[in-house]
Order: sequence, then structure tokens, then C-alpha cells
Amino acid sequence: MLTKSPQNTWSEFLEFIAEHCSATEYENWFAPIRVIEGKGPSLCLEVPNIFVQQYLLDNYKKELALFLPLKPSGELDLTFVLEEGKKKPVLPPAAVPPAEPAPAPASAEIYPGIAEIALNPQYTFDNFIEGPANQFVKSAAMGVAARPSKSYNPLFIHGGVGLGKTHLLHAIGHYIRQHNKKLRVHCITTEGFINDLVDNLRNKSMDKMKRFYRSLDVLMVDDIQFLQSRLNFEEEFCNTFESLINQSKQIIITSDKPPGQLKLSERMVARMEWGLVANIGIPDLETRVAILQHKAEQKGLRIPHKVAFFIAEHIFNNVRQLEGAINRLGAYCRLMGIDITEEAVEKTLSELFQYSSHKKISVESILKSVATIFGVRVSDLKSTSRTKDVAFPRQVAMYLAKEMINDSLMRLSSAFGGKTHSTLLHAWKKIAGQVEKDESLRRQIDLARRNLEA
Ligand code: ADP
Ligand code: MG
Repeated sequence: MLTKSPQNTWSEFLEFIAEHCSATEYENWFAPIRVIEGKGPSLCLEVPNIFVQQYLLDNYKKELALFLPLKPSGELDLTFVLEEGKKKPVLPPAAVPPAEPAPAPASAEIYPGIAEIALNPQYTFDNFIEGPANQFVKSAAMGVAARPSKSYNPLFIHGGVGLGKTHLLHAIGHYIRQHNKKLRVHCITTEGFINDLVDNLRNKSMDKMKRFYRSLDVLMVDDIQFLQSRLNFEEEFCNTFESLINQSKQIIITSDKPPGQLKLSERMVARMEWGLVANIGIPDLETRVAILQHKAEQKGLRIPHKVAFFIAEHIFNNVRQLEGAINRLGAYCRLMGIDITEEAVEKTLSELFQYSSHKKISVESILKSVATIFGVRVSDLKSTSRTKDVAFPRQVAMYLAKEMINDSLMRLSSAFGGKTHSTLLHAWKKIAGQVEKDESLRRQIDLARRNLEA
């Protein structure tokens, strides 16, 4: 029996979890869950989709058992319902007849006319440095690699150029090939798929190509954005996709945009949204430094910590550029027989550095700007005062911090005079809701933003 209300029990669990996971993970997996009251003694949770339920049970059973009621058998006394309006089946109806049984092993030699991308041996999970901006997507990728077709299907990874999409895709491929040798894993670029289609259409060997693709266990498709405005190919791709998903075969897709922003048919977009859509963000400064050090080590270079910071501060939105920077710097210092110093960095990398568009925004600068706009003192904003005159601007500052600074909730909240991350999250939610409706608040926030970015 619950002694507390279900809502309180859940809130306590959330408080605990928020201390133990990243902000991104919290927002993606925990924040969308609602408690349904009045369902008797057990706890009933409303989840937006089946994956959230699965994720919770797969990863947090032990923690749940610490807080939630248990049945006499020791199992969790917990039920789930799907959010209204989302009660669609996860898998599509079988629109495509099941494929024929797999013929020979998957190999480009046996299947001329079928492109395959060799996996980059460096692109492994071990070599992928984790930080708040990519933790979630990395754990999703590892989940798929560990249990192909049993965790999230399809897995759709999207994010900007050079942020590690291809790296994660290949990492999944390596892992499955090592741990699940029987599975037929095939990795292609979207361009490669289209070229194959063209060739096989020309050679009247479409049946062979279809048979090949439909006999795979894991299909990895890089850069699906290149399927945009290729109408004829889109349909064939969609058929292949459905056929594999219908047989519970794993698909992983990368893209520079989320599915909804791709200029593809509704059918295709819906298919890609069936599973899990995960964003790969720009790594924060500490993560960039860690990536840089890791890459340098692999190349046998020793970059002093201070220099690594200096580079990572100036190259911030593309990991590939960071790597290019190390190569150039290493070559220069070797040729000239000099040490890697800030001076050498300035000489070799200055044109790579991004000065103008970037301005470091800190919690301090946000507090200052908000204090000016609302006519309060920075020290009040950091204090524990709960009077409305202070509490409201403080919440606005918290909202701006979460919106404008790419850092963990934990670190952001501690910059507000030691507030907890759940206070910050609560403030962010409240203000985000209010901004939608309140024109004058929106203007104040825009003003603060412009001040900060100027
Ligand atoms: P994308 O496909 O998103 O354009 P890539 O996967 O090709 O980007 O990554 C570009 C380069 O950056 C690769 O060398 C990759 O190893 C590296 N990289 C990106 N993110 C990370 C990370 N978190 N840890 C280590 N290396 C990374
Ligand atoms: Mg790529």
C-alpha cells in the first residue's frame, strides 16, 4: 500500500533520479511521464510511448524499487498507460509481404552492384567521448547495439555537421559484428543506396537488390537527408524500410535534421518517427577538451591542458574541425621542431578560430542582465528570498540559463547560489509556459537575450 500520494511518491523518485542522471536524459525520459491518480494502491504512470516505459524498466528498476510500492511478490506495483492519442501500434501493419529467407552471406563481392561502406575502425564506442550533449544518444546507440531490434527501432540520430553521427553509427556496427557474429549488418550512405538503385534498375537486377536488402538483420543508413527530393528512390527506400521493420530487423538512420524537418513524404517521416529520435548536440567546453586530448593521444601528440582549453574555447561547434586543428598543429610543431604552445596555436590555427559569432554567456552575465531589466540586485537573485519581486526575476534568469548555456542542470543550478536542479527545471518549465501567453514577458526576455548576445 502507498502511504504517500502517488504523486508524492513519484516526485520523490524524480528528485532522486535528477541527481543521478544528465539533464538531457532527465528531459527525454523522465519529464514526459505523468502520474494518473485514482488507480488504487499501485502507481500508474502515463507515458508518451512504449519506449519510455521500456527505458524506465530496463535501466531504473533498482532505483524504482527504492521508492515505489512493491507487490507481496517483491515486484514493482506499477502500471503504465499510453498517453491519449498516442495509442497507435508501434509496428506498422504488414504492408509488404515477408521477404524470402536469406540466401548467402552478406558480402559486396557476392553481390556486385551493392555498395557497402567499410566501418571506420576508429569509430568505436570506446573512442566516443561522452558529455551532457551526447550522453543520451550514446546510451541509445549502445542500447541498440546490445539488443538489436529489441530496444529502439528504428533509431534515428540527428545533429549538425561533424558532431559524431557517423562515428556512432559505425560504433553500433562494430559492436554488433563483434558480439553477434551471426547477424548480417550492412552500412550504406544514402547516396550509395541511390546509386545502387540506379545501377540495378539499369541492369534489370532489382529483384536481386531487393532480396539482398530484405535479408539483412541490421541496416545502417548514413545521411538520410540526401533522400530529399529524390521521389522515385524514396518510395523504394520506404518499401525496404517497412519490409525490414516488419520482420523486426534493426534500422539505424542518421540525418542532419529531425524527421519532421526533412522534405520527405509523410509516410517516410512517420516511419522514421516510429522508434526513437535522438539528437546529438554540440559538446560543451569540458567535453571538447576531453575529445581533443583523446584524439591527440591517439596521434601520439601531447597537448598541454592549457593549450587544449585554448583551442576548444575557439573551435566550438564542430568536432571534425577540432581534429583538423590537432593535425595541423601537430604537423607544424613537428616540422619546426617546436613545442606545442599557445603561440604555436595562434600561428597555425587562427583562421580556424571562431571569434565573432561566439560570445561566452555565463550565469553571472545573465543575472546581471535580468537584474537590470527587473530593477533588482544580483545578490537578491542569488539569495534565498522568496518574495515575488525577487523570485520571479530569478526564475526568468534560470530559464535563460537553461536556454542559453549548454551545461548540466547541476552546474547551472549551483551557480544560482546553490539551488537544486529541480528548482531550476521547475522555473524553466513555468517561464517557458508563461512566455507563450504573456507578450510583455516575452519582450523582457527578448531584451535580455539581445543584451547578452550583443
Ligand atoms: P557527422 O557524421 O555528425 O558529420 P562524424 O561522425 O563524421 O560527424 O564525426 C566527425 C569527427 O569527429 C570524427 O572524427 C569523430 O570521430 C569525431 N567525433 C565527434 N564526436 C566525437 C566524440 N564525442 N568523441 C570523439 N570523437 C568525436
Ligand atoms: Mg557523417
